[in-house]
Amino acid sequence: MQTRVIPPADGAYTFPLLIKRLLLSGSRYEKTREIVYRDRVRYSYPTLTERISRLANVLVAAGVQPGDTVAVMEWDSHRYLECMFAIPMIGAVIHTINVRLSPEQILYTMNHAEDKLVLVNSEFVPLYQALAGQLTTVEKTLLLTDSSEKTAELPNLVGEYEQLLAGASSHYDFPDFDENSVATTFYTTGTTGNPKGVYFTHRQLVLHTLAAATITGSIDSVRLMGTDDVYMPITPMFHVHAWGIPYVATMLGIKQVYPGRYEPDMLVNLWRKEKVSFSHCVPTILQMLLNAKGGENTDFGGWKIIIGGSALNRGLYEAAKARGIQLTAAYGMSETCPLISCAHFNEELQAGTDELRVTYRIKAGVPVPLVDAAIVDGDGKFLPADGETQGELVLRAPWLSMGYLREPQKGAELWDGGWMHTGDVATLDSMGVIDIRDRIKDVIKTGGEWVSSLELEDLISRHPGVREVAVVGMADAQWGERPFALLVPREGQALDAQSLKAHLLPFVELGLINKWAIPSQIAVVGEIPKTSVGKLDKKRIRVEVLAWQADNSPFLSSL
Ligand code: AMP
Repeated sequence: MQTRVIPPADGAYTFPLLIKRLLLSGSRYEKTREIVYRDRVRYSYPTLTERISRLANVLVAAGVQPGDTVAVMEWDSHRYLECMFAIPMIGAVIHTINVRLSPEQILYTMNHAEDKLVLVNSEFVPLYQALAGQLTTVEKTLLLTDSSEKTAELPNLVGEYEQLLAGASSHYDFPDFDENSVATTFYTTGTTGNPKGVYFTHRQLVLHTLAAATITGSIDSVRLMGTDDVYMPITPMFHVHAWGIPYVATMLGIKQVYPGRYEPDMLVNLWRKEKVSFSHCVPTILQMLLNAKGGENTDFGGWKIIIGGSALNRGLYEAAKARGIQLTAAYGMSETCPLISCAHFNEELQAGTDELRVTYRIKAGVPVPLVDAAIVDGDGKFLPADGETQGELVLRAPWLSMGYLREPQKGAELWDGGWMHTGDVATLDSMGVIDIRDRIKDVIKTGGEWVSSLELEDLISRHPGVREVAVVGMADAQWGERPFALLVPREGQALDAQSLKAHLLPFVELGLINKWAIPSQIAVVGEIPKTSVGKLDKKRIRVEVLAWQADNSPFLSSL
């Protein structure tokens, strides 16, 4: 196509979209607002900018070159925030290590990412020591610690973070470079095989930040974060850059609170003391917070929380609402940076009943600006957006991982047909709302019917005796698969197979589910297995249930 492209005038500055731009803006708007770390550290934006320069000088003096990968093993902290800026801003790549993976998986990711320097929190020193002999690319380490003990037995230790920062220059002239340079990388675990590395460029992160700021701040019906808000992540910074919100908060100069390791009492105390008003997390972390001893009778009024990473069911929505928390669902995945869609109310929904608004607040929502979403069948054919037809959700957006690190075949599968495949079954409706029905591999195929495990979880979560629920399909000689429900009871409430059946039958009568969707068996347990990022671990659940079924375990009861 012959469009009109005018070359820039001599000397015109062609502005690259680099992460440093987000930082510089932060000191512009609300520079006296604070960055807080637990009950230990607080400082304002000019100090953040200065510390990032100091860290850049420390890294360069330690031999870090543009293009190198620098890894971080740390809980959520002001130091992590500084790393999220300083490392990419010198042209290096930050590898945010998922410290909750198994040691073997952590080792795999560090060698695969070719980490050159690793910043290690003192809590992870024993883990690092255990891996050190098998690390193939790491040359140096740097210690992060809250304790007064400023050294540790780490191989090729450059020094301790605070001491090094104190001794470094507070000025660093961050260079311009290609906006398509990789800035961040981290690993996502599938059901099989090794973790896969996703990666994001400066340009992608800047565009993602702008879109996330727009959607959290500009939609009247779900206004989530503005400059008066106080932000505290409860999705770890190692997982998709805490959903990219630290970049948004920094760009806008919003007060930020970093809680370190997630301890329920610390989270509740910080919420109270620092007046936190905006957070984001996966459902299980919220559940943990609602049950925290220190917050048992707390009214969390005014706290707005985005729930993503897993479906938000109605039971949890209502439980949070009863405690003053306003939940909003959003959808995304590691490969998508992550923001794809967020609940949004158009005029039709605003004018609707409470019931209707809740229904739409817990769905995955409407694609955010610049995101294209469609559903396709197994042959890649586009399906209608009629709110009924189910297909695989496929995406296009400026901030999707362009493949998997050094896995061209898997990258090509991810991008089959020029759209990014999510592996999620969804419907799209005429309002553009995405409703995630299930992960393709979690849909339960029973007697020729497809049952959504997420829908069943949602209906079961409404039983007053259910605190947590996971539904999986278990092999069955007659029906192919049958739904199985794993339940954690709510304290002081009765929960058994018969009361669950009585709870589900009306939904069959209403036509919401068919009778084959009623689980054949349940188990009432104290805890449901979770993944490294706190999601229901359906792979492990299936293994455990299989073992119980083989043993005819007394845990099991039939409906
Ligand atoms: P991860 O890459 O580990 O962040 O996992 C991404 C997956 O989480 C998606 O592919 C979905 O299956 C699931 N997920 C994320 N957000 C939602 C949501 N709002 N509703 C249902 N499932 C979700």
